Amino acid sequence: MFNKLSSKVLAGTVALVIICSIAFLYLSMKEHEFVYRGTVFNHLEALATNMADDLVETLNEEVDSVDLATKLLDLEVYDNVKYAIVYSRDWDVLQQYIAPSFMQTTALKKELPPFNIKAIDHGVSIYNGSLMVLKTIGDDSYPLGHLLIVNGYREPLDKSNHDLIMNSLPVALIILLTMIALAILFSQRLLSPLSSLTQFTESIESSSNYHLRFEAKSGDEVANLGNHINSMLERIDAQNTELQVQVETLEEQQQTLQQLANFDVLTKLPNRKFFMEVLRREMARVQRRSSNVIVLFLDLDDFKGINDSLGHEAGDSLLIKVSDVIAGQLREGDVLARLGGDEFLILLNDINEDVLETGINVAERIIHSLEIPIVIRDWEIQTGVSIGIADAASADFQAETLIRNADVAMYHAKESGRNTYALFQQELQAESMRKLLIANALTKALLDEEFKVNYQVKVGKGGKVNGLEALIRWESSFDGIISPGEFIPVAEHSGKITAITRWVLRRVFKDLPQLVDIAGKDVVVSINLSAFDIKDIKFIQYIESQLQEYHVAPQQIEFEITESAYLDNFEEAKKFFQKLGDLGFSIALDDFGTGYSSMSYLTRIAIDTLKIDQAFVRKLEESSKDKLIIEAIIGLAHNLGLNICAEGVETAGQRDYLLNSGCQQLQGYFYAKPAPLTDLPKVITDINQQQQILVSLRS
Ligand code: C2E
Ligand code: CA
Ligand code: CA
Repeated sequence: MFNKLSSKVLAGTVALVIICSIAFLYLSMKEHEFVYRGTVFNHLEALATNMADDLVETLNEEVDSVDLATKLLDLEVYDNVKYAIVYSRDWDVLQQYIAPSFMQTTALKKELPPFNIKAIDHGVSIYNGSLMVLKTIGDDSYPLGHLLIVNGYREPLDKSNHDLIMNSLPVALIILLTMIALAILFSQRLLSPLSSLTQFTESIESSSNYHLRFEAKSGDEVANLGNHINSMLERIDAQNTELQVQVETLEEQQQTLQQLANFDVLTKLPNRKFFMEVLRREMARVQRRSSNVIVLFLDLDDFKGINDSLGHEAGDSLLIKVSDVIAGQLREGDVLARLGGDEFLILLNDINEDVLETGINVAERIIHSLEIPIVIRDWEIQTGVSIGIADAASADFQAETLIRNADVAMYHAKESGRNTYALFQQELQAESMRKLLIANALTKALLDEEFKVNYQVKVGKGGKVNGLEALIRWESSFDGIISPGEFIPVAEHSGKITAITRWVLRRVFKDLPQLVDIAGKDVVVSINLSAFDIKDIKFIQYIESQLQEYHVAPQQIEFEITESAYLDNFEEAKKFFQKLGDLGFSIALDDFGTGYSSMSYLTRIAIDTLKIDQAFVRKLEESSKDKLIIEAIIGLAHNLGLNICAEGVETAGQRDYLLNSGCQQLQGYFYAKPAPLTDLPKVITDINQQQQILVSLRS
């Protein structure tokens, strides 16, 4: 209660008023006593003088005690006179008067209070709390007797004081209350701006609303203080706003960082990092519950081709739309993430049913949903997806292993014809282990000279060998002969292909003089390139350096590049072909017809030859459709002024059909299998002999 300044001021004022009042009362009583005493003294003196004068006559004659008593009875009218005694000249008591009121007390004590009259001076004096006046009756020089009047002093004084107090108390109380009321009013008046300022600051404290302002009504210090507080608030407000802006910016930045760190910018899907975090948590959880989760690894089919043919923007739009389509097939709680490029991951949560069955159902739904073409700008794009399915238990609840398993299964799905799904199986794991083994062995194999090059002849229209294709062979130290069909893709995916290509190139350049000796000066030797060689920015430089070192005539070298290799990166491939052409090399498109619809590209790149894929040649005699394709390819090549080479020719029938259709060059087991350089002279001799027999048979 006394925490409030107003209460303190009020209490102080009241205390002060009370103290002042008491002091005033005390002083008034003192003054009253003084005045009272003076007055009583005078009255008593006068009374005693008058009575003494009256008694002169009585004492002059024979003392008549009745007369004396009568005279003394006059004192009855004086309330405060206790008693009076008339003494003779010789201090014998002649008569005494005792006031009726005093009589009672004396009666109790049976006698007057004892006192020594001789010790009392003439005149007025105070003795034993009573006021005494001793007067000489008659002349002082010839006294007839003495008169003693004893008047009460303390009691009447107290009574008078009491009366005074009682009389003045109501007034004093009224004054006191008025003073207190005034004090309250005054303190409230004076302190009300201060208390409203206090209330104001309290409301700011409780609400933290710094927009509030104090309205100063007075012009005093409190108003000044209020104004100071207002300007402080303004500053706080301004700083707050600034701070708010900063905090908002920081929050935005944090959100952006969070977004960047955990989400893919393009599709807004969680990224690999985020996915792995969720997966790890989920794995730990299901392992504790002896439960299971499923991961789907998705890779779009032919995305590269779409990206390159329609442009990156269309590719990006496709990725966004595809991610929407996929997301539409998932339940709440499943996590869809973009791993990068055209790869996505899905985590299927809370599976109560058979986990693998659930995975298959989801995969089938996704594949089915992507069968509807996706419209981007004016194009209807038909895309497909290969999906690998793996479960946590088979990965021993290791997140990385689970992703790898799903990836392995996805590759399997791709290999088994795309737009399908595959379940992870331990055998696939063995397959991927073997790939790992091969990848790790490649570098050492290059150093240990485990590779060789075989050459397969290409035969011209007249039956003469006019070309050779260099095909790599590997007799590995750990597993004997490994086919290029198996290790080349591994080398491509493990970044070792460029070293292999360079090795083959050098080998061919070294062999070239002998090859020319064996197959004639017009022979053209083909070297296979991979998509990764196109991206190898130092490759052209390397070729140039090798050209100089081995003094090779570029027109004797042809580079074979698969359709998919150049389609993967058309613009780069175009420049690369241009450079090779400028150096004098010729270029053949390998496995033509198998890749993405590529006809329009042919007009835009500098190539010399189309190599019809063996698949068409193989089915030539059974399938009229393949015949049609071959004829179309040959017609197209003629129109574009390109040479045609058909590979995989195994029968005389195939040979005849292809030659009749206008094919300029043939390659296949019908003529010869790829052979080491040392066997080539015999191979070529055999072919020439067969040709001579054929010619003589015909003629
Ligand atoms: P490719 O470039 O299409 O080579 C032709 C493949 O078909 C060779 O298989 C060859 O032996 C085989 N072949 C030729 N005629 C016939 C035939 O009449 N019937 C059958 N069934 N097959 C025939 P190979 O040597 O096993 O090579 C497989 C693939 O490996 C090659 O296909 C090529 O893509 C790649 N490759 C081979 N050597 C190299 C190389 O030095 N560098 C690169 N980057 N890839 C290479
Ligand atoms: Ca080839
Ligand atoms: Ca081929």
